[in-house]
Amino acid sequence: MVGRPKKKIQCQAVRKYDGQQCQAKGILTKKGTYICRYHGGKSTGPKSFIGKIISLKKLKQFKNKSYEEIAKYIKKNTRKATAGPFIN
Ligand SMILES: [Zn+2]
Repeated sequence: MVGRPKKKIQCQAVRKYDGQQCQAKGILTKKGTYICRYHGGKSTGPKSFIGKIISLKKLKQFKNKSYEEIAKYIKKNTRKATAGPFIN
């Protein structure tokens, strides 16, 4: 679909305080889901390799791992860039 939708499409996230669906307008994300700006709809995630390491290091499952281990994990689990050698 080109352009923005005529009617408001609700955010698909769940509100923390009552567990109901969020009432704000959703933005189409890369995954294909509609998420509002408050729940991270505009975020595209970390771009650089160092940024990816820093963000993963804050997660519970990577807390005790070293930077080299996380770098190995990122290289193993991410798709290769198709735009050329100038992107990380
Ligand atoms: Zn929301």
